[in-house]
Parts: sequence; C-alpha cells; structure tokens
Amino acid sequence: MTATAAITQDLLTIPRKLPQGGLVNLVGLTRDQMRDAFLAAGTPEKQIKMRVGQVWQWVYYWGIRDFEQMTNLARDYRQLLAQHFVIELPRVVTRQVSADGTRKYLVRIAGGHEVEVVYIPETDRGTLCISSQVGCTLTCSFCHTGTQKLVRNLTAGEIVGQVMLARDDLDEWPVKGQPRPETRLISNVVLMGMGEPLYNFDNVRDAMRVVMDDEGIALGRRRITLSTSGVVPEIARTATEIGCLLAVSFHATTDEVRDQLVPINKKWNIATLLDALRAYPGLSNSERITFEYVMLDGVNDTKEDAHRLVELLRGIPAKVNLIPFNEWPGAPYKRSSGNRIHAFADIIHNAGYASPIRTPRGEDIMAACGQLKSATEKQRKSAQKAGV
Ligand code: SAH
Ligand code: SF4
Repeated sequence: MTATAAITQDLLTIPRKLPQGGLVNLVGLTRDQMRDAFLAAGTPEKQIKMRVGQVWQWVYYWGIRDFEQMTNLARDYRQLLAQHFVIELPRVVTRQVSADGTRKYLVRIAGGHEVEVVYIPETDRGTLCISSQVGCTLTCSFCHTGTQKLVRNLTAGEIVGQVMLARDDLDEWPVKGQPRPETRLISNVVLMGMGEPLYNFDNVRDAMRVVMDDEGIALGRRRITLSTSGVVPEIARTATEIGCLLAVSFHATTDEVRDQLVPINKKWNIATLLDALRAYPGLSNSERITFEYVMLDGVNDTKEDAHRLVELLRGIPAKVNLIPFNEWPGAPYKRSSGNRIHAFADIIHNAGYASPIRTPRGEDIMAACGQLKSATEKQRKSAQKAGV
C-alpha cells in the first residue's frame, strides 16, 4: 500500500465532520447528533424521526455498513446518505487467539494510532474489554499502559467501533428471519483496557449510550462496568449520566502505598475516594462497587492489608476482585504467591464481602489486565529492526 492510500484509509475512520467536505462517519453519533447530521444533509424535518430510527436499526441492530442494503429507504434517500456519510469501524490490524479462547485485537484508529481490545469467553458470559484512550496520562507503577504516554482520547465512534468489530469477528449480528439468540457472545463490556475512562468522560458516555440503546446493540446498563483509578470529581456522573456499574482500582490500604502504586492518590487520597464512593448515586446491594486489588508480592498482600481493607470498606456495598499481578517485561513487581492470595481472599470473604480471584486469561498472547500495548510495542520494535 502506498503512503497516500494508507492515509486515506485512516481518514475514513474519523467519525466527525472532515474539512473540505469529507464524509461524516455515523458510528458513534448519538441519536441527537445523527438527527442534526441528517437534517443538515437535507432530510425533511417531518421525516427525521423515522429516518434516524430506520438507519439506527440498520447500523446497530443489523450491523449493516452499506446504505444500499437499507432496503426500507427509497433509492434516492440511500444515495443522499451515501453522498454525506460513511459507516466505518476502526481497522483490525492483527487478531490473536489464545489457547484459552481469549481473543485480542490490535486496532488501528485515525492518525495511525493503535489500541487493543480483548474478548474473554467464559462459561456463563463473554466479556469484551475495551479501551478509552491511546495510552494513559496516569503512571500507575504496576501497569504497562502507564509506561506509555497518552497520545489521545478515543472518539465515541472509536469506542463504539470496538464493540462492533468484535461482533463482526464473532459473527454476532442477528440474522434476518431468525430470532435473536438468547445467550450473547458479548454479554458484558468492561472499560478496563487502555486509558482512564473518566478522563474521556463525554466520549465514553456517548459511546455507552449507543451500546445500551434498546433498538440497537441493546446491552443492559448493568452489563457494562467502567473501571477508574479514582478520578473523584467525575465518579458520580458515571451513575447519573451512564448508569453502568463502577469498579475502582483500589490496590492499597494506606496512602503511603497507594501513592506509589496509583499516583492519582496524591491528588485524591483514600479517604476522599471512599467519601465519593459512599455517596455514589444508586449504590445498593444489587449494584455494588467492585474494588479491584492487584496482588503484588510483598507490597500490598499481607493479612494486615486484608483486615485494613475490610475496615475501609465498611458501609459500602462492595465486592473485592483480587487480580494476580500480570508481569510484563521490566515490571518492578512480582505476583503474590497463590497461598497469600487465598489467605487474603479468605479474610475479605469472612468479613462478608465477595472476594473472587480473577483468573488470568490470554497470558500467552499478552492479553491479561495491564499487559496491553506491549505486543504492539514489541511488533514495532521488531519491524524497526527489520527495517520495515
Ligand atoms: N484506567 C482504568 C482502567 C484500565 S486498567 C483503571 O485504572 O481502573 C484495568 C484494571 O487492570 C485496573 O484495575 C488496573 O489497575 C489493572 N491492572 C493494570 N495493570 C495490571 C497488571 N500488570 N496486572 C494486573 N492488573 C493490572
Ligand atoms: Fe492508566 Fe489504569 Fe494503567 Fe493506571 S492502571 S496507568 S489509570 S490504565
């Protein structure tokens, strides 16, 4: 492919209006934005509601990308749409499948940047882990993404596009004339890939509203979990503006240790974070907050830590997700031993909180939590070496 062809391809994935009369990508527009875009393209006001409804269903219910296939629209109107709009997803550059069935997609977005998306099949569910930023501004010391500088926020289209491209790969769009299968391959979405979703709030919110919309992908709000490192001022909006579940990267029981692991703690410390969580709108036993806790050998994994954690959680409907540390090349920590992790889990469990230990998935393809980006970097380095 020539350089020009590569650039053109990338430009097509930009989901907002392009300069010089370029086409607008419909993917990621909210219903209101789609309405405005259709009106601006010349759709008569009295048809607008119907048109948005029809196109929405084609794009998000049926997964159609070509206006010509939107058979309930008059030919003239299909042509009008094609003159102004495209339906484009970020491009999948590589797709790896782990021995345990986990799939990892390396996805190219406008500007040539790359993010990773991971699909984790389990017996009772299938979870898609999506990214919200290229890199991350935060520098959590145990996270590989944190070693990479932020390049940019993803657009809403690029976030929705991750869900759509995974549905493409899993062949999960409904088939005409057949009822929608009751069990979904992608039953859950977690914002636990690259980036801090609360530092890209508006785009994450718009994207999740598209994914939740009943006439499209229709994923229930409780099937979506947003994970934050603790951006306190934005936490409440997660409930009021998205309504999804919340997970917090807690990882330590003293400010001294949390300052080291999750440096945003220096801005909003444990007490401030817990106040925000206690005040989380809609918090209840059926919608508990997940406390993520990465188990680092000799750093945060003692019995005293477990007891302190229980004290800190008092009064908050919570569950604790223990994550065995996933090592990456050059990482300054080691994973806690299985005995330590189990002893820790028992203390939390005996205090009345669910404390599942997350099974690392997709380790052979570096798809586990906190390992994202490494494969990309490795590939780039070997490409550089080979002079590509
Ligand atoms: N930025 C958000 C979401 C992405 S990280 C956040 O920090 O919450 C998703 C989860 O993986 C977080 O709980 C994060 O702390 C954890 N994580 C990061 N690196 C890890 C690693 N190497 N091993 C295990 N978990 C890790
Ligand atoms: Fe960013 Fe989350 Fe990694 Fe921290 S753990 S560096 S907030 S992606």
